[in-house]
Amino acid sequence: MSAVLEKIPVIEDYLVMSDEEIYQRIETAREELGSRIVILGHHYQRDDVIEHANLSGDSYQLSVMAARTDAEFIVFCGVHFMAESANILGKPNQRVILPDLGAGCSMADMANIEQVEDAWEQLADIGVIGEISKVAPMTYMNSTAAIKAFCGRNGGVVCTSSNAVPLFDKYLKEYDKMFFFPDQHLGRNTGLKFGIPLDKMALWNPHEELGGNTEEELHEARLILWKGHCSVHGRFKPWHVDQVRKETPGIQVLVHPECMYEVVEKSDLNGSTSFIIKTVENATAGSKWAIGTEVNLVNRLQKRFPDKEVRLLSPDLCMCATMYRIAPQNLAWALDNLLVGNVVNEIVVDEETKKWATVALERMISFTEQNQDKKN
Ligand code: SF4
Repeated sequence: MSAVLEKIPVIEDYLVMSDEEIYQRIETAREELGSRIVILGHHYQRDDVIEHANLSGDSYQLSVMAARTDAEFIVFCGVHFMAESANILGKPNQRVILPDLGAGCSMADMANIEQVEDAWEQLADIGVIGEISKVAPMTYMNSTAAIKAFCGRNGGVVCTSSNAVPLFDKYLKEYDKMFFFPDQHLGRNTGLKFGIPLDKMALWNPHEELGGNTEEELHEARLILWKGHCSVHGRFKPWHVDQVRKETPGIQVLVHPECMYEVVEKSDLNGSTSFIIKTVENATAGSKWAIGTEVNLVNRLQKRFPDKEVRLLSPDLCMCATMYRIAPQNLAWALDNLLVGNVVNEIVVDEETKKWATVALERMISFTEQNQDKKN
């Protein structure tokens, strides 16, 4: 046994090791742990972590894929809400590890359960939610387990950026209004696809009475949007689109719907991470793309498709700094702990929250399956 493994591994020891040693430790641990572990690497994760992942993908995909394995430990190289989702969707005996507990998501952190419950109560007090007005709560996958559970308890649902459009279609038909958490941009961009005018979308600021709206505005609104956003996608501005078109005539602009609508409006195409990947995969050789999403994914697309010109939409580094906290050092430390039987940084969602979050997720899953059946 190595010097480090003679005792419970501590992270400080790993911070001073060379990159080579860290790489070797991870690979040795992976080999020794074998099928007992599955390492998940989110698309936005850095390359020196992704190279050790058994599976890579977006957050929902990864949780579903991990649950299909027989791995005892799911090591999620992503952010906190993703590890929670893996715990909710995983088998009862699967334990989830987040190699750095500081890997949060700025967007998910913009809506906490107390604020959401308070907003719901305020809407009920003024009769926006009541016997004659039905409001569906819908949360983006990028939210805490507690918000997902809130939606489950109140007849609502979870959506991803891939299925937000069909789910909006269903819930807008069945309900008078929707309350969408926590990403105002995905909510606004999707609402606009259904022809909802901006003046029928109220923005709920959790730090103000009635979210900063009048009673009348809330009664009139078709969509209430939580005032949250992604700090990474929020960095893309409309002038980036103008600039890139000026610099590179013929370039196509492809952005994620977490970008502000003024950017989405100016783009050629917008869609989920999977949509972005597929679009570049299927593009013709020689085509030019400016992409508005996280830089690690864009760099990876650049490397995969040298026959196409792929660049980041912004000249600034649009990187998910919280996801970046999961470094190879954290991964090596977490795996070496597993080797000595010590489970570090386990993410466990309490049973009550899990129960209701599952209800909201299952509504999404069964709707998506039915939708798929209709298409086939
Ligand atoms: S890219 Fe944005 S939404 Fe995704 S994890 Fe990072 S902060 Fe959260």
